[in-house]
Amino acid sequence: MSNLLSIQQDLSNYEAHLVAVSKTKPIEAILELYEAGQRSFGENKVQELVSKYNSLPKDINWHMIGHLQKNKVKQIAPFIFMIHSVDNFDLLEVIDKKAKDNQRIINVLLQIKIAKEENKYGFNFDELVSQFQLEKYPNINFCGVMGMATFTEDEDQIRKEFQQLVSFRQQLKNLFFSTIEGFKEISMGMSGDYKIALEEGSTIVRIGSLIFGSRNYSE
Ligand SMILES: *Cc1c(COP(=O)(O)O)cnc(C)c1O
Repeated sequence: MSNLLSIQQDLSNYEAHLVAVSKTKPIEAILELYEAGQRSFGENKVQELVSKYNSLPKDINWHMIGHLQKNKVKQIAPFIFMIHSVDNFDLLEVIDKKAKDNQRIINVLLQIKIAKEENKYGFNFDELVSQFQLEKYPNINFCGVMGMATFTEDEDQIRKEFQQLVSFRQQLKNLFFSTIEGFKEISMGMSGDYKIALEEGSTIVRIGSLIFGSRNYSE
C-alpha cells in the first residue's frame, strides 16, 4: 500500500493511468486497493479474470493483459473494459464479433512486439501495417498500443524499445487512426521499468509485484 502511494505520486507528474496487476492475488488484496480508490485492475488469465469479476464490485474496470485465445473471448466480452494483448488478426475478428453479440464496443490495444526475446508476444509491426483494415472491426474501439520491453538490466535497451513503441503508435495513428481521437494510449511499463516508461511517454502502466508483493506461482 505504501508503494501504491509513491507510484501514484510518480504517475501524477505524467498524467498516466495505473492498472494494478492482480494476477494470482486473492480477492481480499484487490478489495484493499479498491477501498483505497483504485478501480483499474489487470489479469492475464481468463478463468481467474471471470471469477474475480463475479466476486468483486461492478464498478471495477477490468483489463485483460495476457495472451488471449480466440475461444475464450466470449467469456470476457460481456464485461471487459480493455484488452491490451491483441496480437493477431483472427483475434481482432473474434473480439469484433463477440462485442457485437453483446451489443458492446470493446476497447482494444494493439500489442506490438518490441522485445528481442523470442517468447514475447505481439504483432510484427510491418505485418500489422501491411494488413490492417480498420473498417473490418466496427465494434472495436482502438485506443492505442501495448508493448513489453526485453527483460534485461540494460536500461538503454529498455528505453530504446519503449521509444520504438511510441514511434509505432504515431505511425499507426497517421496511417489508420488519424480521425480517431481516442487512439492515444501507450500501455508500457511494469514494476521493474515503469519509471523509464513514464519518461518515454507511457499513458498506462501495468504494475503488479511492486504493489501486491512478489507472486508465488507454486502455491
Ligand atoms: C504480470 C504482468 C505485468 C506486471 O508485472 P510486474 O512485474 O509484477 O509489475 C504487466 N504486464 C503484463 C503483460 C503482465 O503479464
